[in-house]
Amino acid sequence: MKNLKPAERTNNIEYAIRDIVVVADRVKATGKKILPLNIGDPCKFDFKTPPELIEIVTKAMMDNNNGYSPSSGIDDAVEAIRKEAVELKGIKNIQNIFITTGASEAIEICMTSLVNRGENILIPSPGYPLYSAIVPKIESTFNTYYLKEENNWQPDIDDIVSKINDKTRGIVIINPNNPTGAVYSKEILMEVVEVAKKYNLVIFADEIYDKLILNGTKNVSIASLTDEVPVVTFNGLSKSFLAPGWRIGWAIVSGPEREIADYIEGAQRIVRARLSANHPLQYAIKPALEGVCNHMPETLQKLKERGEITTKRLNSIKNISCVAPAGSFYAFPKINIPIDDKQWVIKLLEETGVLCVHGSGFGQREGTKHFRVVFLPHNDVLNQAYDKIEEFMNKYF
Ligand code: PLP
Repeated sequence: MKNLKPAERTNNIEYAIRDIVVVADRVKATGKKILPLNIGDPCKFDFKTPPELIEIVTKAMMDNNNGYSPSSGIDDAVEAIRKEAVELKGIKNIQNIFITTGASEAIEICMTSLVNRGENILIPSPGYPLYSAIVPKIESTFNTYYLKEENNWQPDIDDIVSKINDKTRGIVIINPNNPTGAVYSKEILMEVVEVAKKYNLVIFADEIYDKLILNGTKNVSIASLTDEVPVVTFNGLSKSFLAPGWRIGWAIVSGPEREIADYIEGAQRIVRARLSANHPLQYAIKPALEGVCNHMPETLQKLKERGEITTKRLNSIKNISCVAPAGSFYAFPKINIPIDDKQWVIKLLEETGVLCVHGSGFGQREGTKHFRVVFLPHNDVLNQAYDKIEEFMNKYF
């Protein structure tokens, strides 16, 4: 058989968060202890999926809800998502909701059903790499806008406007943000709405970290600020309900009914063709959103402490500065070094065992260098990791 070549559309797909694990495995094989600050999975640290939800899912399985579900998801769960979106988030004009295999599947379905070959969706830089991985898959073109580090990593509205062209169909807003930990102000979100209205863009609002707010404020859903602009809001059980392996997410499509009906039908064709999301796991959605579990105060307390340790420790290290994260469990510190940030991350890993992800894996402004820290590990582990980073910086930079 001739050498089997993958399709060209796979060439540019990268996912730095998992790609760096290949290097870490090599380092681990040499006997070095790895301190993982690289992966946004709370279950890998001292966070446990709420037992109330596990019981409900177990019962759903024992009750033989193990066949396919309706393609958009079970009615009770869809209704609970709608109720929360209306009553808690204030989202108006909801036209469609569907449940998916993680928010990841919803994001891919909604981008796939919007853009034609050669069109583009504005994605943030830095940003969560799933978005840039989908771009080549759907033969779209890259179009990124910057987040402003000097303004607590809020979106750079001027840059957004300057990047819009006649092939731009949408814009992705990740709030609270991965990888920066930023929570966007209502004013900035309103400016995004105005831009979207003016240029006929669909807003993709990734709010998977919406309940993980560390500064005592409440997350504003951008969809609550408009009933004219089409908005697709993504969420799921992975982060706020500590169950990423369940792969349960959803999309809420809102906006003017007549104008977005065809788009919804396009998305629904894909939704039906892939049958359904994990069926028994969907039984956890309603109780989760209705507040059956009490994991949130402890989760937020731990994250708040760990975020503060992260900011304080990193800002005291030579040639590192870190904007304090206001939400999620990530920070995106800046490093002033003479080598590139991927080389720095690999050298840090090889020398100290501390595993972070390089900033270039998320995108960043030309000439700047960063790394992403996941501050899910216990305070002691974080302090140990920051001690090692400090020693490493003092020794080499
Ligand atoms: N969106 C963002 C911003 C994320 O950080 C992640 C996971 O890290 C996802 C989506 C994926 O969510 P899910 O596990 O629901 O597929």
